[in-house]
Amino acid sequence: MTYQIFEFTKVSPASGDDGMDGHVADDREQRSERVLEPIRMRSLREHIHDELRQAIISGRLKTGAKLNERQLAADLGTSTSPLKEALRQLEAEGLVRTEPRRGSYVTFSPRQAEEMTLARAALESIIARQAAKHAPDAAFARLRAVVDKMRAVLETGSVEQLIALNEQFHDTIHEASGCDYLRRLQNAQRTYDHAARITVLSSEDVRRASFHEHEAIMEAIVARNEDEAERLMRQHIMDAGKTHIELVF
Ligand SMILES: [Zn+2]
Repeated sequence: MTYQIFEFTKVSPASGDDGMDGHVADDREQRSERVLEPIRMRSLREHIHDELRQAIISGRLKTGAKLNERQLAADLGTSTSPLKEALRQLEAEGLVRTEPRRGSYVTFSPRQAEEMTLARAALESIIARQAAKHAPDAAFARLRAVVDKMRAVLETGSVEQLIALNEQFHDTIHEASGCDYLRRLQNAQRTYDHAARITVLSSEDVRRASFHEHEAIMEAIVARNEDEAERLMRQHIMDAGKTHIELVF
């Protein structure tokens, strides 16, 4: 992700105060010690960012809700500095709007969720088509193995395990497809997908339906049926998106 690169380039030994929480480097020695610090800062900010994004995408923070910086910082047990940074990131993602002197508001809407679903459906369905067309036979065994694990976890495992396998299933298809360009595009909205998935898979009915959809997608890919793999994947993503919107708004 680009902000990671930004974070590291910002902290060359020659740079001055990075403006974060008053960590000012006074001399050369301190500066060399500071090399590790931005990782901690970044992960704290990332943590706040993830927490807020999850709250917004799951609907715990509703559209129009005012994000009181002091209150949120107190809830999270942090200073406002990494929080402000996280809010800026959320704003870049279109989930939050900040107005001068008025503060920050949640702007996530059904229209936006629909758009993200359509984008994901478009990318995932083409990736599935390419997987059916180009995947090496060895990839089929890996895909089948993930589905087998999902079947077992559906009966006896935790929701967290199922979410992880769910992501592994889609990752395995991405890898099998050999699509570099499409995967880069897909990665850009990966965090949204993850947050939406947690919400959608909280329902047991959805977990079962979703398993059967995955199984059918796997069969279509293994049969090298490109049209069917594309169609089933599109349907799968659209259904999940619809469920997400119903649950959140
Ligand atoms: Zn899925």
